[in-house]
Amino acid sequence: MLDPAQSPEFRARALTALANKNQSAAVARATSTISDRRDLALEEVPEWQEWRERARLIKAHVLENLDTYLEQFESNAKRRGVTVHWARNAQEAIDLIFDIGKRAGSGAIVKAKSMATEEIGLNHALEAKGWEPLETDLGERILQLDGQMPSHIVAPALHLSRDDVADIFVRELGVDRTNDPSELTAIARRVLRTSFAKAALGISGANFGVAETGSILVLENEGNIRLSTSLPKIHISLMGIEKLVPRFEDLALYLRLLPRSGTGQRLTVYQSMITGVDPSQEGPEEMHIVLLDNGRSGLLAQPDDRQTLQCIRCGACQNVCPVYRAVGGHAYGAVYGGPIGAILTPHLSDGPQAAELPYASSLCAACRDVCPVKIDIPKSLLRLRAKAVKDGHRGRLEKVGFRAWARTMERQGRYERAMRSGRMFQGVVLSDGAAGKVARSPMTPLKAWMTERAPRRLAKKSFRELWKEGLIDG
Ligand code: SF4
Repeated sequence: MLDPAQSPEFRARALTALANKNQSAAVARATSTISDRRDLALEEVPEWQEWRERARLIKAHVLENLDTYLEQFESNAKRRGVTVHWARNAQEAIDLIFDIGKRAGSGAIVKAKSMATEEIGLNHALEAKGWEPLETDLGERILQLDGQMPSHIVAPALHLSRDDVADIFVRELGVDRTNDPSELTAIARRVLRTSFAKAALGISGANFGVAETGSILVLENEGNIRLSTSLPKIHISLMGIEKLVPRFEDLALYLRLLPRSGTGQRLTVYQSMITGVDPSQEGPEEMHIVLLDNGRSGLLAQPDDRQTLQCIRCGACQNVCPVYRAVGGHAYGAVYGGPIGAILTPHLSDGPQAAELPYASSLCAACRDVCPVKIDIPKSLLRLRAKAVKDGHRGRLEKVGFRAWARTMERQGRYERAMRSGRMFQGVVLSDGAAGKVARSPMTPLKAWMTERAPRRLAKKSFRELWKEGLIDG
């Protein structure tokens, strides 16, 4: 992950995360527990690969016809009493939500877990206007109390231990210390239930939207999304434009695919299907769906990388990624961490992460193997790296080095001469002598590379030489 061409902020975040042993342990424990559960859940499904392929095909088809499906979704949702809004970027989405929310009056604002709202920085924007949105997902609530952002797509507070949570509750809620998970949950529930009762505005995301009915589906395990979307007078759902499936029956596949891949569950505990609003019945008087673009149509226009929009936010790629497992989500400096974040964030923001995040990967391809919609993350990472080089975001020395390496690899004779020289000089460079010290000194660009890696010595003789000498049996 560390690379001399990365910004000091990027390196500092990675080093801080690596030095935080408690956090590393919590992330490693949680990600391996979830991955083990996922493996067990998949053993029950011999047709898993067929599910993946179908899920990929449906999503790819939607992306190819997104304009049609979006219009279909909008008209069906409107027919059922929903007001549909379009937001080109984060600011437009925030303004829309603020304008709708003003009509809700003075009651509480309850928020369900939603990565899209994190993406647009909704909480900060509303707080800046004097509002007090209350996160109702337990993990999100803990992070809100502590002023942190989520570190994982599915389990936002997975980097915290139960002792960390106990400390936060004592400090922020003034309760007696306990690190018992049931007691901690009960404390959070007491506060949240009161807010639900007083809620005037509920804000949620959406896991899927259905074009043929205008419905949205939200999945969860705690029940707070159901309360946030049904008790308040106004419900606003913020949904990325890529979240659609064509038909209601398509949901049957994703309902089984997402929980198995995300948490190893056969199904999530709650599946809330919301199709329109009827003010004469119980439930919200108004429902609004804000369709968020925020860089997605730009990505859609890139056929090679469009597959990134197939993501169903299950978090499986984060759980298996060796880089994510070592540093956790905050080191990425973006809302979406881990492999999916490394290929998605560069399309959603022009910030410095755009060029840096694709390098936060070992390219081991474990993410591709677990992805339930078969996104080829390593291929996208390589394309984004190539773009970073083309846009001049990498050091000149690195460019020169790789060009020289490419020229060397082009001809057998050049390669063999380079290996012979390497064998001759490696002793001095890797030694503790003067040359070795120079190689590791802060003045050399090799220093960062040398401090993070233990270079392997070249063998005294190459395989070809040994073969020619008859020392290897044919
Ligand atoms: S890229 Fe694939 S594995 Fe990663 S979160 Fe998205 S759907 Fe899940």
